[in-house]
Order: sequence, then C-alpha cells, then structure tokens
Amino acid sequence: MSSTKTIGIIGGGQLGQMMAISAIYMGHKVITLDPASDCPSSRVSEVIAAPYDDVDALRQLADRCDVLTYEFENVDADGLDAVIKDGQLPQGTELLRISQNRIFEKDFLSNKAQVTVAPYKVVTSSLDLEDIDLSKNYVLKTATGGYDGHGQKVITSAEDLEEANALANSAECVLEEFVNFDLEISVIVSGNGKDVTVFPVQENIHRNNILSKTIVPARISDRLADRAKAIAVKIAEQLNLSGTLCVEMFATADDIIVNEIAPRPHNSGHYSIEACDFSQFDTHILGVLGAPLPAINLHEPAVMLNILGQHVEAAERYVTENPSAHLHMYGKLEAKHNRKMGHVTLFSNEPDNVVEFGKGIDF
Ligand code: AMP
Repeated sequence: MSSTKTIGIIGGGQLGQMMAISAIYMGHKVITLDPASDCPSSRVSEVIAAPYDDVDALRQLADRCDVLTYEFENVDADGLDAVIKDGQLPQGTELLRISQNRIFEKDFLSNKAQVTVAPYKVVTSSLDLEDIDLSKNYVLKTATGGYDGHGQKVITSAEDLEEANALANSAECVLEEFVNFDLEISVIVSGNGKDVTVFPVQENIHRNNILSKTIVPARISDRLADRAKAIAVKIAEQLNLSGTLCVEMFATADDIIVNEIAPRPHNSGHYSIEACDFSQFDTHILGVLGAPLPAINLHEPAVMLNILGQHVEAAERYVTENPSAHLHMYGKLEAKHNRKMGHVTLFSNEPDNVVEFGKGIDF
C-alpha cells in the first residue's frame, strides 16, 4: 500500500491551507472543496469550487480521496454521511453534530466526558427565563449558528431581559451562568483513533470577541495547567479522537471550566508551527491518517498576534522592524475589517511587551 494519500479537505480558508501545507510536506496530495476557487487553499491545492452542501461535489471529493477532513464545524453532516465510505472520515460526523449545537455539546461535556462546565439550562422560549435569579449574571447563547460572540446576550440586570427574551423566542438557546474567570485558555489535543498527544496550555486575549493574542505557556499555575491538559485528554479519549481538537476553557483562581470545543485546528494553536516541534496541523494530518503521534515540546515561550484586515499595514511595518517575527499571510484577496488575514508568531519571555496590532487605535 502506498504511504502517499490523497486527502480531501472541506473548507479552503486559512485552517484548510495550513493543513494542506503540512500534508504536502509529508508527501500527500490535497484536494479542497470550497465555494471560492481563489480561496487561501487554492495557493497550495487543487480546489473543487462548489457550495459545502452540494452532494455531487462532496461525492466527487469522496471518490477522489483516500481520507476526508474538514476545517470548520458547520459542515453538512447529513450530506457527508450520504457520500462517505466506511472509515473515510476518521473524525466522524458525530463530533460535528456535537460541536454544531451547544445543547448537544453541553450534554456531551457534562454527562459523557464529565468535565466541569458553567451551570446551564436549555431555554426553548422566554418562558424559561421568567424565574431566573437575577442576583447572578448569565450569558444566553443560541444553540446553533453563533460564533465569535454572535447570537449571545449577557444578562446582568432586569433591563437585559427584553433583548434576552427576544433571543430566546427566536431560537433554542442555552443559558449559562457567567464565569468570573481570571484568564481564557485553550488546549490543543490530537488523536489517531487510539492514542492522543497534547499541546501546552495557551492563554487567549480577545478583542471584540475575536482572538487577538495568544501567549504560550499560559500564565497559570502548573497545577491548573496540568488539570487543563488532563481535561483536554479526557475529552479526546471520550471521543476516540482522530485529528486535532481545541478545548476552550476559563481559568479561575482554583478551577478550570470548559466553555466549548472546536473539532479542528484552532487559531489559538497557530504558534505551534514555529514554537513546537510539530504543529497542530501536522498532528491533525498524522491523526486523520491513523499514524503514530509524537509527544509535543515547546521550544521557547511564544506569542501569536492575529492580523485582521485593518492591521495589514501595521503588521508589514512590524516585521520589517522585527525580522525574527514569523509572518504568515493567508493569501486572502480582500482585506475586510475584522477579517483574519494572517498572523505573526514570535518568541518572547515578556508577553506583555508584545503589543497587539492596532491596540487602542483600531479595534
Ligand atoms: P463563545 O462563543 O462561547 O466562545 O463565547 C465568546 C466569548 O464570550 C468567550 O470567549 C468569553 O469571553 C465570553 N463568554 C462566553 N461564555 C461565557 C460565560 N459563561 N461566562 C463568562 N464569559 C463567557
């Protein structure tokens, strides 16, 4: 059997592109399905240009590839089930269904994986908000379709209820208690269906609900870091994980609370390309191919800064002044406001001195 595989990637954004780069240097061939023929992956792979729910295009991809994977969780799970052959999608569609719906996700995390999540309840209409105890704060989130803080309402007083009621009447939701966290952290874990390997704990700083800066290792105690990694491993083992998964969590003074999971490489793991001996994309490819997984070492403390559309010029100036910073640009044609255009990774022991692009000017 040839060790060279053809890997089909659903989604040709920056995550698909960086997966493809890892696959290519390992000798594999990549075909990408994306609605845009000039997507970031088009720089490194053949593209089948079709909508994600185009079953004929999915079938063409499945027929031409040994293994399929996806770069984002909102893939049509039913469409995929209709075309994939046994074992062709090692990540499976169950994980997609869990991460597409916060109700399934919370149920999986708290009841199956048995990790700590914020106290929550399912809300099917505004009637479910009538008796909430307003001495506490909450976040109401739509069960499906939300991202980067969209489809969410923070409730801190009775005044917030009007908007929250409207949200609750528009879609099924989850009401979570607000966590007074010290830090937002995440852990990348990869599996090959049998074993898992785990990355260092990442500290994440968001601006306007968009990741802006990741600091590795996260500035938490060794005890909490070990706990965060153990939680990620527990979730991965419960899933018999294949490929890379990101577990987003809150760190409080003495506890770790899981917020959500993303069944794919994640923005907060991009630093691993230079700062670890294998990247989250390498282990994703190894994992979906069922290959043995390496232990992960962090070479040196690192910082990753996102480059949004409004930061491109500042980032270009930055790397001319800091040539040891690693610049990644994804090849997106239009630099729209808040669109992720690239990132920079640099090694630093003084993360507070690494200033985010546009800080205080353009967020
Ligand atoms: P999410 O879409 O669940 O990742 O939420 C987006 C952001 O909202 C998170 O990165 C947090 O900053 C914040 N957030 C979400 N859920 C909670 C919570 N239960 N308590 C406090 N902050 C939250």
